[in-house]
Amino acid sequence: MQGPIHIIGAGLAGSEAAWQIARQGMPVVLHEMRPVRMTEAHRGEACAELVCSNSFRSDDAEYNAVGLLHAEMRRLGSLILRAADAHQVPAGGALAVDRDAFSARVSAELSAHPLIEIRREEIAGLPPEDWASVIIATGPLTSAALAEAVGALTGEAQLAFFDAIAPIVHRDSIDMSVAWFQSRYDRAGPGGSGADYINCPLGREQYHAFIDALVAADSAPLRDWERTTPYFDGCLPIEVMAERGVETPRHGPMKPFGLTNRHQPGVKPYAIVQLRQDNQLATLFNMVGFQTRLKHGEQIRLFRTIPGLERAEFARLGGIHRNTFINSPKLLDERLRLRAAPRLRFAGQIVGCEGYVESAGLGLVAGLFASAEARGATLPPPPPTTALGALLAHVTGGHLATIDAGPRSFQPMNVNFGLFPPLATSPARDRDGTRLRGTEKVLAKKKALTTRALADLDAWREAHAIA
Ligand SMILES: Cc1cc2nc3c(=O)[nH]c(=O)nc-3n(C[C@H](O)[C@H](O)[C@H](O)COP(=O)(O)OP(=O)(O)OC[C@H]3O[C@@H](n4cnc5c(N)ncnc54)[C@H](O)[C@@H]3O)c2cc1C
Repeated sequence: MQGPIHIIGAGLAGSEAAWQIARQGMPVVLHEMRPVRMTEAHRGEACAELVCSNSFRSDDAEYNAVGLLHAEMRRLGSLILRAADAHQVPAGGALAVDRDAFSARVSAELSAHPLIEIRREEIAGLPPEDWASVIIATGPLTSAALAEAVGALTGEAQLAFFDAIAPIVHRDSIDMSVAWFQSRYDRAGPGGSGADYINCPLGREQYHAFIDALVAADSAPLRDWERTTPYFDGCLPIEVMAERGVETPRHGPMKPFGLTNRHQPGVKPYAIVQLRQDNQLATLFNMVGFQTRLKHGEQIRLFRTIPGLERAEFARLGGIHRNTFINSPKLLDERLRLRAAPRLRFAGQIVGCEGYVESAGLGLVAGLFASAEARGATLPPPPPTTALGALLAHVTGGHLATIDAGPRSFQPMNVNFGLFPPLATSPARDRDGTRLRGTEKVLAKKKALTTRALADLDAWREAHAIA
């Protein structure tokens, strides 16, 4: 390939991608608009600025999916993880950093690398045609001019400016002696079986108590600049719906029609909460119509009062934020290239992952893909059994389009064990042969998933000679 690889955005993803490409011996130009043009959340001009918390979350690589992602990124020579480790501050089991020292370190390492050039400029439209390989890593606050150009290229419906996330529950934590599978009126639809939704029934009193609690619960405050972005188009938070009238949710997402309680066919539910399959593996289900701005603690407390969800484990909680992201499962190939214009690759939060580490992780793989391509090689994606591979697979194809499909069905996701293919056999006994139960069994399963992930990552690295 002639010329350098261009990266737009020196945030978590762009910085990591630049580092990986340079490590593979390829020249990079990193275009960052700060300080010429600032975003609403960034405060300075350093690369990889952390705009809010200073935590990279759990560093436990044995029992936690984000801790595993840290471990995989360390094995692949991540600059973000190296800088985080070097500027760690005490935070129990979490990896938290001195934010200024962290970003200064990333900036210094990138600036000092002979193959990396940093240009301070906004790319205010589609990249010039003569840039043969480009990574767009402009994040949740992509500048308006570039977002508009991406929207025009992909179709505006494929670009969102707000996420409207309903909580996602691990399937195996739902009590199926209370809930049951059924689609409304048993309709199979184009891609369903007639029994695609998990239904949780509420009686009249239960419903009214739930709505009262919903209205009284605490919401997360909107930032000033979020107030001005219109987002209430068809995705009202469930608590706002409840404020409009006690019966409103019952005529919306909680309507009980077309459903019969399999466990008590003679008892007509007053209202229903439906959960819909959220990933190909059928390990995760989202609460339909329950996008919410309630504080996380309130969500857990309240949603566990729903019959069948008393022991629900949440893969992610609901939220509504300003967030620019594309409909990746539809638009991108498995190597993060835009199908319609493969010279453009996307990475970081704009592809629909969420969080500092996930964004940096997808920047890392985008950098490896782009540098392999520039050498004339084809690098297969990391195995889906790894944290990097599971996240990538979810973003580029593992997400299941909703049965009553709509442009907003794809919503951002943190890494979590629900994205991993299940184990061939779940550990049932400990080393002494004693049968595992409860928490011990859950921990043994997580340990087996992380052990498999690191072994598969090493095999992939070796097979493709990734230093
Ligand atoms: C208000 C807010 C709070 C958050 N809080 C947390 C949190 O507590 N924990 C957490 O894990 N995650 C949090 N996130 C998410 C986190 O910021 C992102 O996951 C992460 O920063 C995304 O990395 P990225 O590289 O994709 O984007 P960013 O880190 O945002 O980097 C994108 C870069 O692109 C630049 N850019 C944008 N447009 C252009 C352009 N046209 N030309 C050139 N440069 C451009 C920007 O200046 C920026 O430097 C928060 C996000 C927001 C908006």
